[in-house]
Amino acid sequence: MLSNSMDDYPLTLTRIVERAERFHADVEVVSRRPSGAVERTTLGECAARARNLATALEALGVRPGDPVATLLWNQREHLELYFAVPAMGSVIHTLNPRLFPYELAFIVDDASDGVIIIDESLLQVFESFRAGLDFRHVIVVPQDGPAPAGTLDYEALIADATPMTWPELDERDAAAMCYTSGTTGRPKGVVYSHRALVLHSLVAALPDQLAVSAGDTVLPVVPMFHANAWGLPYAAALAGARLVLPGPRLDPESVLNLCAHERVTMTAGVPTVWMGMLAALDAEPDRWDLSELNRLIVGGAAVPRSMFEGFDRHGLTVVQAWGMTETAPLGAVCRLPVRLYEGERDEQYGFRVRQGVATPFFDIRARDDNGELIAWDDAAMGELEVRGPWVAGSYHGGRGTENFTVDGWFRTGDVVRIDAHGCIRICDRSKDLVKSGGEWISSVDLENQLMAHPAVAQAAVIAVPDERWGERPLAVVSLCDGADASADELREHLAQEFARWQLPDRFEFVQAIPCTATGKFKKSQLRTQFTTA
Ligand code: AMP
Repeated sequence: MLSNSMDDYPLTLTRIVERAERFHADVEVVSRRPSGAVERTTLGECAARARNLATALEALGVRPGDPVATLLWNQREHLELYFAVPAMGSVIHTLNPRLFPYELAFIVDDASDGVIIIDESLLQVFESFRAGLDFRHVIVVPQDGPAPAGTLDYEALIADATPMTWPELDERDAAAMCYTSGTTGRPKGVVYSHRALVLHSLVAALPDQLAVSAGDTVLPVVPMFHANAWGLPYAAALAGARLVLPGPRLDPESVLNLCAHERVTMTAGVPTVWMGMLAALDAEPDRWDLSELNRLIVGGAAVPRSMFEGFDRHGLTVVQAWGMTETAPLGAVCRLPVRLYEGERDEQYGFRVRQGVATPFFDIRARDDNGELIAWDDAAMGELEVRGPWVAGSYHGGRGTENFTVDGWFRTGDVVRIDAHGCIRICDRSKDLVKSGGEWISSVDLENQLMAHPAVAQAAVIAVPDERWGERPLAVVSLCDGADASADELREHLAQEFARWQLPDRFEFVQAIPCTATGKFKKSQLRTQFTTA
C-alpha cells in the first residue's frame, strides 16, 4: 500500500495576500469614500499597508485567535483589514451597521471584541451601542484630518509601524467571523477557518461559478460585513482582478455611474439593489455605457423572473446564486446549462429563477416532514441540508445545535425541491424570519414585543412578498376583549425596540389567530390568507 508523498501545504489566506502583493501588485483598487471622493490604490499597496497595520495591531495587544471588529463600508481600509487580520493569525469580525444597537451590543459582547476599527462616518452607530462594552482600543479611519480625541488614528498607526513578517499558520486556524440572525433575536456567530475561505475563493473563481479572473473589474455591492462580501475580495486578490469598492452610497445612480466610469465587468448584490438599477436603466436606457458589464450576480433572496427579463432587455445577464452566512456563503449558482442554450425563452427563464446547482465540494440533500430524504424529482419538498469544507459545523459558543443533524449536516431552514439534475428551487422557509432588502427581521421578536402591549392578546408576524424589498413583515393581531389599539399605536410601540425599517407595514386585526394542535400559530394559513388579500 502506498502512502501519499505530497507536501501537507497549509491552505491559508496568507498565501492569497502574498500572491496579491507579489504577482498582482499593480492591479488597481478603486475606493469611493463616504464623501463621494474616489481614491485609487493598488492590491500591492493594500497588502503592504496590511503588514504595517498588523504590526500596529500586535503592538496594541491583539494576539493570534483574537477577534478584531470592523465597522466599515466597502472601502480600501476594509480590504487592508481583510488582508492583515487573518494573516497575522487573528480573526476579522465584520459588524453590520444596519443592525439595531441591542443586536450589535449583544454580538460584540458574545464575540469578546476588544479592538474595533470604525469609519468616521459610522461613529454615531458605534456610540449607539458602545455603552457598557469594554473596548481596549477604538481605531478610527478619519474622513479629513486626524481621528477624534479618545480614539486611535488608523493612518497614524500604519505610518508609525514597520512591516510584519507573516507568521506560519495552521489552515484550521480561525480567520474571520460573521453573525447571522437568530429567529429569537440572539444572533449566532460563524467562525470561518483559513482553509474554508481559501477553498471558497478557489471555487468561487471557477468559470462556471462566479468566474473571477485577472481580466475582471469586480464591484461588490454586497457589503463586506455580509458573509465576506460573498468571497469576492479574496477571490479578486487571488485572481488579480481589479476591485471597485463603492462605499456607502448604493443608490442606483451612484452604482450605475461607478459601473460605467470604472468599466466594471461583474457586480454582485441582493435583488433590492438591482430593482432600483433596473428602474433607472428603463428610465434612461442610453445614459450609461455598460458595455463591459457582462454579469450581475444576484442572491441573498429570490430573484424574480421580471428582473432577469428586465436586465436582458438592456443586454445585461443576471446570474442567481444561493448562499448563507453559515456557508461562507456560496452554495449554489444558477448557470443556464448547455442543454438549454437553444431552449425556449420560457424554459430558460423557468430555469434561471431557480437557486442553482451546488458548487463543487458542496453536498446537498433535503428531508421531508417525516424525516425522509426527498427524491430529486422536482416535486417532493423538504428542508435543504448541506455540508462541505466551507459549511459551518457548529456556531460560536456551541449555540444552535438543533441546526445540525446527528450526522453533521447543516440544516438550512430553506424548503426546496430538487430536480433530476440537482438544481434546487426554494419553495418556502422553515425559519421564522423575514428577509427585507437582504437584511433579516425576526418575526418572533416582533411578536413578543407586540404581545407585550396591554391591548394585544396574540400576534403573529409573517413575511409577505414585496416588489421592492423582496419581503416585508405583516402583523396579524388579535386584541384582548374590550381592548382597543390602532395599527399606528402598535407601530409606535414597536418603534421603541426596533428600527423603522423593521416595523410591519401592514397590520391585520383578527378575532383569533389559527393555531396548530401543538399551539403554534398556523403561519402557512396566514400566509395564504394575507398574501393573496
Ligand atoms: P444570510 O445568512 O443572511 O446570507 O441568509 C441566507 C438565507 O437567505 C438563505 O438561507 C435563504 O433563505 C436566503 N437566500 C439566499 N440566497 C437566496 C436566493 N438566491 N433565493 C432565495 N433565497 C435566498
